[in-house]
Amino acid sequence: MTNKWPLSIFNKSIKVIKPKVIAAHFSLVIRYVPKNFSADFVFNEIKKSITSAQDCNPIVYAYDRTTTDYRFYVKDLEEYYETLNLGKLAVGNRLLPVTPYLPSNKLTYCSKCYILGHTALNCSSHHPKCRVCLGEFTNNHRNECEGQFKCAQCGSNHFSLDGNCPMVQKHRQELNKEVKQAIRNGDLNYNTHVEQIKQIKKSNEYQYDVNAFPPLIKMDRNIENRWNTQKTDSNNNTNKNEVADVLKEINKNLEMMNKKLDDQKRTIGRGRFSLTLRI
Ligand SMILES: [Zn+2]
Ligand SMILES: [Zn+2]
Ligand SMILES: [Zn+2]
Repeated sequence: MTNKWPLSIFNKSIKVIKPKVIAAHFSLVIRYVPKNFSADFVFNEIKKSITSAQDCNPIVYAYDRTTTDYRFYVKDLEEYYETLNLGKLAVGNRLLPVTPYLPSNKLTYCSKCYILGHTALNCSSHHPKCRVCLGEFTNNHRNECEGQFKCAQCGSNHFSLDGNCPMVQKHRQELNKEVKQAIRNGDLNYNTHVEQIKQIKKSNEYQYDVNAFPPLIKMDRNIENRWNTQKTDSNNNTNKNEVADVLKEINKNLEMMNKKLDDQKRTIGRGRFSLTLRI
């Protein structure tokens, strides 16, 4: 999250209240981490390259995997795009791929009866149920509830949305299948976020503009003088302004290139192997 917020908009002073939690869209995933690397070790390695990384956790998959993927947040937007651009991070003695985090498909469930597939607005239950025992949730239920879990999907002794419930898993599989089909049919574009990131990245990159660096020495003397130098005073002033503008532009570009160089140096410095430049 950036600190570059304005203090006023249209002369009205404003107060910026930042969200306490970073959106899932600013998470990255480091993939195929060997299982013998501890979570703490992986997080420390990530921190060496991304100083604003936080909340690093392994992703739990429904099936067994030979390696682990870790998800982490990146607070600094510049570091986020920088890492995505690089696409790799060093962990231990390995260079592992980094990809954007794509949140899983959310299951629709009813907050009144806890059954999957509909919302409270379309619920046929006459009264709201307790999320633990599924008994009628009256004003006094908190004192009466025995705390015994009952699943609204399968009736077993667990929470209604428990990821280990076979009915919940079946529902999730069906949803994932339908989402995949919708993507295949073109009804849904799951990659929009990734495409957006690529576009933003592109706009952040420096684009070489030929007009920003007009040649100072004319190669072809037949072409009209590029600086359009005329001897009149007023034109002289305009030309001076134009030259000043071009110089400003060159200065800006130089600053930009310097910043890029600094960033690169920073990235190299942060890596496992520090390089010493001898000039
Ligand atoms: Zn319901
Ligand atoms: Zn209850
Ligand atoms: Zn169940």
